[in-house]
Amino acid sequence: MRGADGVTDEGVPAQSGTGAEGSVTGVVRRRWGVALGGVLPARFFEPGWAYEERVERRCPVCEGELHALRRPYESQGRVYRYAALVCPGCPTAFSLADLGVKTYDQLTAASSAAVSVRWGPARVVPGSA
Ligand SMILES: [Zn+2]
Repeated sequence: MRGADGVTDEGVPAQSGTGAEGSVTGVVRRRWGVALGGVLPARFFEPGWAYEERVERRCPVCEGELHALRRPYESQGRVYRYAALVCPGCPTAFSLADLGVKTYDQLTAASSAAVSVRWGPARVVPGSA
């Protein structure tokens, strides 16, 4: 008895890496299997978003990992990119303004500044005499 012999894996590449994947809510549902809650900006529901990377900044609510989704848009002949910062733990998504920055670059710069704050008052480690 030969069943489904000969059926091969089509090897269709997953929608990841380059290219748009969909709305923020759609990407998050497919990637982490969660539905975003809370009030989100209207652009988060528009198509054209793609997963970018994990960022150093932590979620302001649960301190979980934040992941960046980007979406290119054109304004006055120039191309910009929206950013959405997703916390799969909450789960919710933040805009750059929600995190207190104006640009994506400021987000990464702010995270390195936050790291230096964590050094704080140095714990005195007695040296081995
Ligand atoms: Zn969170």
